[in-house]
Amino acid sequence: MVIKIDDSKIKIKCQKCDYVWDYGGKSEYYVTCPRCHTLVNIRKIKIKLGLIKGE
Ligand SMILES: [Zn+2]
Repeated sequence: MVIKIDDSKIKIKCQKCDYVWDYGGKSEYYVTCPRCHTLVNIRKIKIKLGLIKGE
């Protein structure tokens, strides 16, 4: 068993209900808010944080 330590967790804030959570998954575009199930655009957040390059 390989345990991979992922230090790329980012804070995500839902634009609808303002819920904030740590996300460390692999999704590049959208994640679902655990509280209200709204789709949150994670790509925009990553570009803002400088984790990925915007077009
Ligand atoms: Zn929400």
